[in-house]
Amino acid sequence: MRSIPDLARASQILKEVFGFDSFRDIQEEIVGHVSAGGDALVLMPTGGGKSLCYQIPAMLRPGVGVVISPLIALMKDQVDALRQVGVRASYLNSTLALSEAKHVERNLIDGELDLLYVAPERLLTDRFLGLLEKASLSLFAIDEAHCVSQWGHDFRREYLGLGVLGDRFPGVPRVALTATADDVTRREIIEKLNLDTAERFIASFDRPNIHYRVLDKQNARQQLLRFYQNEHQGQSGIVYCLSRRNVDETVNWLQRHDVKAVPYHAGLNGETRRCNQERFLQEEGLVVVATIAFGMGIDKPDVRFVAHLDVPRSLESYYQETGRAGRDGLPANAFMTYGLGDVVTMRRMLESSEAEEAYKRVTQQKLNALLGYCESPRCRRQILLSYFGEDLEKPCGNCDTCLSPVETWDGTVAVQKVLSAVYRTGQRFGAGHVIDVVMGKSTPRMVRFGHDQLTTFGVGKELDGRQWRSVTRQLVAAGYLTTDAEGIGSLKLTESSAAVLRGEVKVQLRRDPVITPDKRQAKKATPVRNELRGEVEQGLYEALRSLRSELAREQQVPPYVIFHDVTLRQMATDRSNSLLKLSHVTGIGEAKLKRYGPTFLAKILEYLNKTAEFKLPPPEEESASSESKLVSTDTASKTLELRLAGYSLEQIAEERNIKVRTVEGHISELVYRNDLTAREACGLINHQIEEILRAREALPQDLRGKLRPLFEVLEERYSYLQLKCALATLTP
Ligand code: ADP
Ligand code: ZN
Repeated sequence: MRSIPDLARASQILKEVFGFDSFRDIQEEIVGHVSAGGDALVLMPTGGGKSLCYQIPAMLRPGVGVVISPLIALMKDQVDALRQVGVRASYLNSTLALSEAKHVERNLIDGELDLLYVAPERLLTDRFLGLLEKASLSLFAIDEAHCVSQWGHDFRREYLGLGVLGDRFPGVPRVALTATADDVTRREIIEKLNLDTAERFIASFDRPNIHYRVLDKQNARQQLLRFYQNEHQGQSGIVYCLSRRNVDETVNWLQRHDVKAVPYHAGLNGETRRCNQERFLQEEGLVVVATIAFGMGIDKPDVRFVAHLDVPRSLESYYQETGRAGRDGLPANAFMTYGLGDVVTMRRMLESSEAEEAYKRVTQQKLNALLGYCESPRCRRQILLSYFGEDLEKPCGNCDTCLSPVETWDGTVAVQKVLSAVYRTGQRFGAGHVIDVVMGKSTPRMVRFGHDQLTTFGVGKELDGRQWRSVTRQLVAAGYLTTDAEGIGSLKLTESSAAVLRGEVKVQLRRDPVITPDKRQAKKATPVRNELRGEVEQGLYEALRSLRSELAREQQVPPYVIFHDVTLRQMATDRSNSLLKLSHVTGIGEAKLKRYGPTFLAKILEYLNKTAEFKLPPPEEESASSESKLVSTDTASKTLELRLAGYSLEQIAEERNIKVRTVEGHISELVYRNDLTAREACGLINHQIEEILRAREALPQDLRGKLRPLFEVLEERYSYLQLKCALATLTP
């Protein structure tokens, strides 16, 4: 059933329908393979671009592509997004009225669909399978394929039934997709879905646009607020907390500080949850504070940050949760605050659970790996990726430890002080008291227990409280101390403590960096695609965003269904002031160009015209016309002669012993006299000349005679010579 993949057509669809210039990484291979009728297992991180891997083959092959997804809430948005680009898509799930469902079924049989999204429980009914047999099918796509795994928390029993598709529909290729990377899950998918012969496509799990940062927890909410205000004001984000209570309190607190925030956790009724999730998708700049119950299938591409106020359960959860940020590829932040208290809580939750010993042990190991990540002075991304079996050769340059390298120091003596205080106080006290002992604080408690009499009392005046907390935390993370199983938080020695106490092992510690605003700026060091420079671009971007919101409201779809932020940003940075230019912007295919091009173009032109007048008059520099008038005809002719003989401007200047600036004056004079075309003079082609002239038109009257404002309005994209030549084409 295999055929030769038509990659040229695939690229054409990519451009014309979706508006993208090229495939990413392995998308092209997958599209080729599936289009030719092959089965595939696709592992790609969130935001990697899984959808195109089945959408394009479904369009290339005859028949309808059936997409199985557990996320009913998302189907409508996905289908809306496809319809916006002109793909014939529909969905079938329990939210449809009977008559609507009938209508979709008829379209299916009549071959009037490219893609059909179905929930697995519906797909597996005899009736529906019978219906599918009557239809012409291009492929099956099994999205969120890790739902077959009984060990994961996204398990869906119905997914186990999907194994029958291969037998029942031989010759229809099946592609299973997931962002869950681990080996066990992968094996389960292959087994349960009968995909042993399927080709495996594994993308890199790196998410280079996500900036990772872990902070020493001091006042988590305050730290979050500062982070939000400094870096994400008015943007969408998810904040994860461990407990419902913490979620509710954080929401209240954020609201009191004028942050638009809503809660999401299992304690809320279904209606509130649904409504809050809906708002998150529809509105711009909403922050959802949630327990881990929130997120699977949050397809929103422009989540700009994910913050963990409490430590996540494992690096797997952390990666999955932070992965919800920045699906659109624009810069996004993963922010976490973590402290010893978190470890105590996690330990308590674990010990008090009913789980089996083996499970508890694995969970404890996972927690340890996470703590190691938090405390490591190494590149965060290197640690994460190596945890998932991928090597990143060089440090990433886009995480906190890369940008503000962490110093390490020989902490052996400090460590001995803490360990000995733990030992001498009977391994019954928490970090707070132990640190008080080391620092020599005479609290009532100290006196009551007689701890002020210990030899370790007050031996640690060289560090402050924050530093001692950091030392203690690192000891727990490195396994030199552990917290009690009862979860009261008392610190206990471990098997490895003794060697340190005896001085047989040296301990390197990291020095917690103090994050100053300046250091944060360092983040800017990584180049950002389509970064908005200056007020005009920022303003234009905002104007386009509000236009998008308006259109989205009218059609009752999320704004990103109309255009993603990436698209709007590029419109702003490119100042796409013609339909032709808009057609080159990423994410604008033919259907969207036709549907939205004129509206957005009008907004861009209106904005650019308006703002040009608000520009302050820049300092006097050069005058557009004065110089050319001074040029004597003869000397310009001499320059022309040399120019036509192939001399460069510099060579002419040298030959004639005049300034290059003067030669430039001659050149524009020559253009003015029609002795040279602008193209011959300085390589300008017609539409560039038009752009320059239009920009000049848009300047206020009193600035039109000057070059500097024009140079700036055009973002320094043209040289002064080019500007002069363009102006010289104007007939007086
Ligand atoms: P996933 O399902 O893997 O999380 P999606 O399919 O939703 O990812 O794609 C993530 C984002 O990347 C979307 O905004 C999508 O439009 C964009 N995208 C996917 N492929 C490309 C491509 N080849 N060029 C540009 N953008 C792409
Ligand atoms: Zn790094």
